[in-house]
Amino acid sequence: MTPTHREAQVLEPQTRDIKAFSEDQVEERPHQEGVPESPDAVMVSLAGAMALGIEKGKFAREEIVLRGLNVLMTYKENCSANCSYCGMSRERRIPREQTTFIRVKWPVVDLDEVIDRTNQVPHHMRRVCVGMLANHRSFNDSLQVIREFRERTDLLISGLITASLIRSREQLQMIKDAGADRVDIAIDAATEELFEKHRGRPVKGPHRWDHFWWVTEEATKVFEPGTVGIHLVVGLGETEKELLEACHRAQEMGVVTHLFSFNPEPSTLLGDWPQPPLGQYRRCQLGRYLINEMGRDFHRFRFNRAGQVVDFGVAPEELDAVIDSGLPFMTSGCPDEHGATACNRPYGNGRPSEPMRNFPFIPTPKDIEEIRMQLWSDWEGEDDAHDQSALG
Ligand code: SF4
Repeated sequence: MTPTHREAQVLEPQTRDIKAFSEDQVEERPHQEGVPESPDAVMVSLAGAMALGIEKGKFAREEIVLRGLNVLMTYKENCSANCSYCGMSRERRIPREQTTFIRVKWPVVDLDEVIDRTNQVPHHMRRVCVGMLANHRSFNDSLQVIREFRERTDLLISGLITASLIRSREQLQMIKDAGADRVDIAIDAATEELFEKHRGRPVKGPHRWDHFWWVTEEATKVFEPGTVGIHLVVGLGETEKELLEACHRAQEMGVVTHLFSFNPEPSTLLGDWPQPPLGQYRRCQLGRYLINEMGRDFHRFRFNRAGQVVDFGVAPEELDAVIDSGLPFMTSGCPDEHGATACNRPYGNGRPSEPMRNFPFIPTPKDIEEIRMQLWSDWEGEDDAHDQSALG
């Protein structure tokens, strides 16, 4: 079959070669001396900084209530990894004060100030996510930051692990002992080939696919069932089938998946790549929800030649009810003490002016109407769709 224009659009990122970037296109960003570093300081997400009164601004929709605080370690040399899509990457050609992550500003704030404000400013946040960078100091520093939050606030704590820093199960136990009740591993790329391309040797990065899955499995032996998660980014060149297969692999291990939509960061290696079509993202959200939250069997899904979902393997009326609930399209993130999503990341996937990809609240009936229009908007049709069982 000759690929259609749309098919070419969907598959185009897979055909681009990261190795095509020449040496003079990438250079280490200037290190900054005399700036605050972890564990004394952390980077705070823009939404968290707004909720704590550190940054001014208001959320684009009145329904948005921030339920989780996201902080990241910070170093003068930034991250020593070089993931092609990431604002923290080593070779991104901008100085640290202009650094963005998932396209928004993350101000560097003294940890004491973050904790004091968490205790003094009225807010609705129930959990803090403490994220590592690939920096040799980051493991110990994140333990220190987790301990500070445990001892000085009443927030639940998640550890966002950089798997390349973990060499033993004991290190995962140390994260738990420090005070985290959950951990997430940002695997990000859905297949080994894409992981290598975007995070491994071709971009001079330290990360290895097998190691990330090994750390994920080890984490399930340390943390309670259902408290380990992975992150996957939609739009790094994978098909929907590959993305949902990775969700299925995690689910088989008792691990939930949190989805992000690729969002190009200027001056990164993927700075000019397009976001995935909304239809692709919606189908991945719906598939993930069915697999993770409803225990549906990935092997009953059917896909077309472009790897797009053709059939989720559930009755039409049931699928309608799931879509109408709006729940699949909400941010999937670590929960509060009642099981509701705490990490709702309002700016996690796009700008306030763009259509919302992960809803930080239950979508309204009008939102559902739009979601329904988006859901199949870029769909190629059924062609000779096959189910998973037929593939063995
Ligand atoms: S390891 Fe994480 S923070 Fe560092 S460049 Fe890769 S994705 Fe970004």
